[in-house]
Amino acid sequence: MTHSYTTAFAASQPAALFAATRARSVLVVEDERDIAELIALHLSELPANVTIANDGVSGLDLALQQHWDTIVLDIRLPGLNGLDLCRELRSKLSPVPILMLTARSGELDRVLGLELGADDYLTKPFSVIELRARVKALLRRSAITTAAQNDAAAHKPSSLIRGQLKVDRLQRRAWLAKGEITLAPREFDLLWHFVQHPGRVFTRTELLDEVWGYSHDGYDHTVNSHINRLRTKLGDERTDAGFIHTVWGVGYRFEASE
Ligand code: CA
Repeated sequence: MTHSYTTAFAASQPAALFAATRARSVLVVEDERDIAELIALHLSELPANVTIANDGVSGLDLALQQHWDTIVLDIRLPGLNGLDLCRELRSKLSPVPILMLTARSGELDRVLGLELGADDYLTKPFSVIELRARVKALLRRSAITTAAQNDAAAHKPSSLIRGQLKVDRLQRRAWLAKGEITLAPREFDLLWHFVQHPGRVFTRTELLDEVWGYSHDGYDHTVNSHINRLRTKLGDERTDAGFIHTVWGVGYRFEASE
């Protein structure tokens, strides 16, 4: 099965239940439809908007598509199993709380042994009351994490000054010795990335990953050409103390002399 659907259970709950708290979003990845719908029914009472995926591949797609407050993840799934799905999510640095469902205690040993980064576990058959309590705890934790992330984003500096260079993140503008330099969007992103980490060496792959948001072999020339244009605009070829330095065999490092 490759489809998923949003349950109608949440809509059937009294409106008063939703007024007090914003309904949280929960993704349930479980191929056994009876179990999935039972879980959805009980979690919708938290309240939560519950979406069900019936296999691992669509589960992973959905997990990566939007923000979830918690994911309930069965281990035995067609396509991609729950262990691999969890590993994949964590490799993409997703911080979403994950509750894993295991069919037997032998599987639980494996989950614990692999240290996949799941946050909690329940062995089937489980009590729905217990499941609801566990998910509620994870939702509470996810609310705290989200609040902390928002705080961190709010405290991120809106502009940075490095030597003669000033870069403003919100205006997306940059000035060098009081004269403004005109940057293409990606050049600006690249410069902002560098000025946040003076002295640190980045490989081309890291820059692709962190600035472009993807990393594929064969795109090194993309990084090189952007770096070259940025260097020209920063006047790096005209001065001894340039901003962007090539670290031979590794990548690039940004430095600003005072
Ligand atoms: Ca299953």
